[in-house]
Amino acid sequence: MSDAILITGGAGFIGSCLVRQLIAAEPATRVITLDKLTYAGNLDSLQPVLADARHRFVHGDVADAPLVTQLLQTERPNKVIHLAAESHVDRSIDGPAPFVQTNVVGTFTMLDAARDYWKALPPNEQETFRFLHVSTDEVFGSLDDDGAFTETTPYSPRSPYSASKAASDHLVRAYFHTYGVPTLITNCSNNYGPYQFPEKLIPLMVLNALEGKPLPVYGDGQNVRDWLFVEDHCQALRLVANQGVPGETYNIGGNSERTNLDVVKQICRIVDHLRPDLPHFPCDSLINFVADRPGHDRRYAIDAGKIRRELGWEPQQTFEEGLAATVAWYLTNSEWVGRVSSGDYQRERLGLAGES
Ligand code: NAD
Repeated sequence: MSDAILITGGAGFIGSCLVRQLIAAEPATRVITLDKLTYAGNLDSLQPVLADARHRFVHGDVADAPLVTQLLQTERPNKVIHLAAESHVDRSIDGPAPFVQTNVVGTFTMLDAARDYWKALPPNEQETFRFLHVSTDEVFGSLDDDGAFTETTPYSPRSPYSASKAASDHLVRAYFHTYGVPTLITNCSNNYGPYQFPEKLIPLMVLNALEGKPLPVYGDGQNVRDWLFVEDHCQALRLVANQGVPGETYNIGGNSERTNLDVVKQICRIVDHLRPDLPHFPCDSLINFVADRPGHDRRYAIDAGKIRRELGWEPQQTFEEGLAATVAWYLTNSEWVGRVSSGDYQRERLGLAGES
């Protein structure tokens, strides 16, 4: 059966990867992207699919109930994959309000519109409809020992970002248990890869290293994160949307725990190898320890055994391969980088006539 999938946040880092992957890999699938184009939304990242007849871009807010209702009724998707969110922890510390508005109110708005839409579907379509909510391992809080988060680890969010994602996860579960909406949740570890906005650790370090700017490492650099290549995450999302059991949660992880300092040093090794001509060689001379982020969680680690056992998913890229491919992408895609750095990617959207 052919799919019509509504993807929210599809102009962001992970969402645009998912849209590009779906259009390339599933010739019978139609994709509708709903995105508000905040600073993190970038139509350049959707360039390969913008003119594709199977893709439609809609400029709008997930918290706009009439818009979401109308979109569901006109496009009649059989799946919703909800990624739209405010996603940067540091920004949530400086100003939490948009995080509550988009991540909590926006998710509630999506769920409520999806419930009405789903209820009105004929029984055979009700049976196959899915609402997949894309969430983070940060909802589980910080690990101090050698353990790893499982799907039953109690929630303990500690930043405004993770608290807003935790709230949205609870709403998603409530819509399954209370109204029977066939929802699923994924909680994933840190993603990296091409097209990531350069405020996040890996692209920030890559671009600073290339430009000879300091590489700011929080605290002692010993905070541990698990890293997953974004294409692997998108494969997992497609699998959960197609084969996951409604009401269930799936943890997704890369089995690649690294300290932040190790990540930065590895980036430096790759940059030194690819660009030995840079004046600030060797790159790790640029490492600069800065005051720690308030409430900085010490360690996250994901047990992704359930999705492996039940759906057969495993990451395809090792961290070393994925990181090398990512650094090479930032080196060869200076136009994308330049338009983000100059702000041009945002200026042009002002001329956007609502949608394309
Ligand atoms: P991102 O910040 O790169 O992209 C978010 C997208 O959502 C942007 O295109 C933005 O314009 C859009 N958006 C924001 N507010 C909106 C609104 N009100 N209405 C419509 N669109 C809106 O984020 P990302 O890194 O791609 O993350 C996507 C999702 O995956 C988020 O829900 C995030 O919590 C989750 N997640 C991210 C990671 C990670 O490492 N990046 C890990 C696990 C889970």
